[in-house]
Amino acid sequence: MKRGTNKKQCSETYRIGIKGLVQGVGFRPFVFRMATDHGLKGWVENRNDGVVVEVNGSESQVASFREGVVAHAPTAASIELVEMRKIPFEPFETFEIRESSDVSESITEISPDIAVCRECLDDLRDQPHRIGYPLINCTHCGPRFSIIRDLPYDRTHTTMASFEMCPLCRSEYSNLHDRRFHAQPVACNHCGPVYRLENAEGTTEDFKEIVARSCELLSGGALLAVKGTGGFHLVCSAFNGDGIDKLRKMKRRDGKPFALMFRNMEEARRYVEIGETEEAELISWRRPIVLLRKRGEITGGIADGLATLGVMLPYMPFHYLLFEQLETPALVMTSGNFSEEPILISNERTREQFTGYVDGIITYNREIYNRVDDSVTAVIRDVPMVLRRARGYTPSPIRTGFDMEGILGAGAELTGSFCMGRGHLALMSQYTGDLKNLKTFEFYQETYERYCRLFRFTPRLVVSDLHPDYLSTRFARRLVEENPAIAHISVQHHHAHIASGMLNAGLDGEVLGFSFDGTGLGTDGHMWGAEVMKADYITFERLFHFEYMPLPGGDKATKEPWRMGISYLHQCFGEDIFDLKIPLIQRFSRQEIGNITGLIRKKINTPMVSSAGRLFDAVAAITGLNYHSTYQAEAPMLLESAIDHSENGSYPYGIEESQVSFTPLIRGVVEDILKGTSTGTVAAKFHHTLVELILRLSMEIRGKNGLDRIVLGGGTFQNRFLSEKVMEKLENEKFKVYLPGRIPVNDQGIAAGQLAIGAHRRKLM
Ligand code: ZN
Ligand code: ZN
Ligand code: FE
Repeated sequence: MKRGTNKKQCSETYRIGIKGLVQGVGFRPFVFRMATDHGLKGWVENRNDGVVVEVNGSESQVASFREGVVAHAPTAASIELVEMRKIPFEPFETFEIRESSDVSESITEISPDIAVCRECLDDLRDQPHRIGYPLINCTHCGPRFSIIRDLPYDRTHTTMASFEMCPLCRSEYSNLHDRRFHAQPVACNHCGPVYRLENAEGTTEDFKEIVARSCELLSGGALLAVKGTGGFHLVCSAFNGDGIDKLRKMKRRDGKPFALMFRNMEEARRYVEIGETEEAELISWRRPIVLLRKRGEITGGIADGLATLGVMLPYMPFHYLLFEQLETPALVMTSGNFSEEPILISNERTREQFTGYVDGIITYNREIYNRVDDSVTAVIRDVPMVLRRARGYTPSPIRTGFDMEGILGAGAELTGSFCMGRGHLALMSQYTGDLKNLKTFEFYQETYERYCRLFRFTPRLVVSDLHPDYLSTRFARRLVEENPAIAHISVQHHHAHIASGMLNAGLDGEVLGFSFDGTGLGTDGHMWGAEVMKADYITFERLFHFEYMPLPGGDKATKEPWRMGISYLHQCFGEDIFDLKIPLIQRFSRQEIGNITGLIRKKINTPMVSSAGRLFDAVAAITGLNYHSTYQAEAPMLLESAIDHSENGSYPYGIEESQVSFTPLIRGVVEDILKGTSTGTVAAKFHHTLVELILRLSMEIRGKNGLDRIVLGGGTFQNRFLSEKVMEKLENEKFKVYLPGRIPVNDQGIAAGQLAIGAHRRKLM
């Protein structure tokens, strides 16, 4: 870059406003370096909505500086808008970084964790004090949220506090012109944290040996626990059945698919289809797990029966250094935990819990303070959709157009998460997991305490789900009991889904919402889960819903789709179901089936539910795809994966007043099975039926109410086929369709919807 030594008197002052994600990512020091390189004087400052720069110079000089800023911005920055205008002349002596005392500025200082950057990977090779240093980082990359204890963001408030910088690191840290200026976790081979491998053969802290032994172990089918950025991973070769078996055994009944980390994009491409947007997601600095369509089978036990595979690319220097020597092009990398518990973050606890299960433990001695899982995204019609919001996203705030100060959305239960309002910012917690697990609920509460401290949050209004027994609701009630000054309101689950979609898209006014999921408590005391509503941020009106069906055995039926299959069949065929020559009826004994129909007839432990999720369960069971689920949404995922894409037919259904009945559909499915129609065809026809239903209801409602903005919400829309087809059909009919993107469409997004509704209802209080 040329140094500007313009001899002419600079008699003009320009103001440049930069908007986007430009805070907490080393942007101001970057602007400083860029300005001094251009020989410009002035200042840079963080503002609520971006960064402002004022400089003296000629128009062409300043324009070239502006172009440099856009072209060379730090990895994790994303510039959305740059405005430059001339303002009255002001003389500047130097270029300085101005500190601002605004609270919301310090909130946005906390960046999510950032994948190692290109320059650091280069430094790994040729910077003498960092050759092969596995915890290398700079202002543009490295751990952030996972190591922060408190504000302001500086080293003493991170888990790097106990490491004293060597003179070399300190000189880089103090030099405004260095890429490591104020990089809080800066470290090198002389002074930084180190890795350690422990296994039966002994312990070593020699990094070269750690890599060599890890490669040997992994190739031999070992299962390793490896400390990542926000928690431990369980790691084995994706092409060695022994490692996968060990993992399956350790995770017990869990049949959940595992995510893979590939050496690079080229290797990944051999196993999955990667579109342009998906590629951008995979290499983005957030480095999420991206759900991608499989090209063929990979080793058994990884994602059996599913059409997609969760894929990520290396994001820590250790991953790169390991893959350099590793033979296998892909590793299974899954959360280091036992079933529903939170991922482990402490070296001691991992040793305690995993010894005997794993063949080695790889740790480093920098503490993880904030637990943060890998995030999961999927690309729907070229738009990335976050399904699990954690590493790389947390705690980036979502900017909204309204005042949310002091409001807490406590979230749902199965996918716990909360969301707090500071000014116009919505701060969503990382994914915590199923709150019904005691340790997960503790994690949720601990995270809440930490967020309160970190973001200087004082609750004034708590918004919870309508369900009185959700642990998040109980948590909300306790906050209110402890402090009567806090107000408390409840929000219906499916309304919150739609509100979170509205918030994500920045919509206001009334929309038509399709809120499809497993279950949520309705305002009539029944379980809902397939709601068509007219909604705004204050209230909603239920226009249509699926017919209520018996859920034989209650909660048990959500884990055993065959029960729902029997429920639907019983409704269609009554006692004749015993004569049906279909796999579901043949698979279970007369007595087993009789027990279920008995529960239904006598209404014992059989609540009535109106649920899209349960309908998917029923069809998956009737087609023989899934009788017992070993993980959440297994049946719907298998049904989606089974789709024969060449089939465009559908089944009939009925609409009576506000209820949609699927008796005709179930009859059609059974007839098809009896005719020997393939499962793929049945699955396709089933999906097309729902697409047609949504289109028909949308047209009908638009005809009456004029609503033409449609928000899709709820876990069912994680189904890519369904979401894509629905959007396509609706857009063809000139509807505007919105699917939450940055806010998860599933129950993790409930908290954000609650927050938005709370903010609007408060105005009426
Ligand atoms: Zn870096
Ligand atoms: Zn050092
Ligand atoms: Fe839900």
